[in-house]
Amino acid sequence: MEIEKILVVGAGAMGSGIAQAALDGGCSVSLVDADGNRASGAAEKIRHRLEQRVAEGKLSVRERDGMLGRITAIRDLSACGDVQLVIEAVSEQENVKRSIFSNLDSLAPPETIFASNTSAICITRLAAATGRPEKFIGMHFMNPAHVMKLVEIIPGLDTARETVETIVDLCSKLGKKGVVVADSPGFVANRLLMPAINQAIQALQEGIASRDAIDAVMRLGAGHPMGPLELADFIGLDICLEIMETLRGELGEAFRPCPLLRKMVAGGRLGRKSGGGFYEYG
Ligand code: NAD
Repeated sequence: MEIEKILVVGAGAMGSGIAQAALDGGCSVSLVDADGNRASGAAEKIRHRLEQRVAEGKLSVRERDGMLGRITAIRDLSACGDVQLVIEAVSEQENVKRSIFSNLDSLAPPETIFASNTSAICITRLAAATGRPEKFIGMHFMNPAHVMKLVEIIPGLDTARETVETIVDLCSKLGKKGVVVADSPGFVANRLLMPAINQAIQALQEGIASRDAIDAVMRLGAGHPMGPLELADFIGLDICLEIMETLRGELGEAFRPCPLLRKMVAGGRLGRKSGGGFYEYG
């Protein structure tokens, strides 16, 4: 099956990027969010990014109009219509994701594939909230989703081979590289990345080096495009904490979130999205 119609649930940082990637791939996209104005706000953000591409001569006005004609913000899940694929990108909380999928199970056509953009939560457990585990899969886009080339593809215990093939093909259509990995906590990306970020926060807490020094070491020494603290702000400290909690719950105390990370989230310092984290944003 070739995917042409997609519903993206959650119009935050990831949902808006995923919607744009889907438009880039020629798909029609509807976008929904629990926060009434977020979906239309994300559509507006996408329009702005497309305007920039037009200004840079990378997109024609006609192409821009064609893409904008394929995105719709909807008010609630019941308006999902006959989509072929749902990509869920809401907050990293298992109960919230499970309740959305359970709800969608009775609203979407039986052949619709369900994908979660979770960073770390077990795909098999999310699939169990539905009556269609063979059509359930993890699709872990990287941030920003309309720019980054990788998508981790995570089949659950009962995901059908055709579902995996359909999603691998969709990734190519979106200009991405889909890499299939096992349903294991944090998959590959966050199993490796998040403990490193957590250690960077621990190093800051212990006074081993300043914020700028820690980031400079990893940028200039390891060749990373962003330092770990800058990256944590970009990902969202709430998301980092949720991922560490999942890793700790599944893999043990070696993955315990750093107290400073907890404190920052408790104080509402979530990174770029809240205006401040380890750095301040205007
Ligand atoms: P975000 O906080 O920017 O956006 C989450 C959105 O979900 C918000 O707009 C919120 O209103 C909406 N939402 C919450 N509950 C909802 C519900 N019941 N129904 C509909 N919408 C609801 O978060 P994000 O950074 O976009 O992350 C979303 C998902 O993507 C998470 O699972 C996260 O782990 C994953 N992810 C994040 C990154 C990253 O770098 N931030 C990278 C890859 C994957």
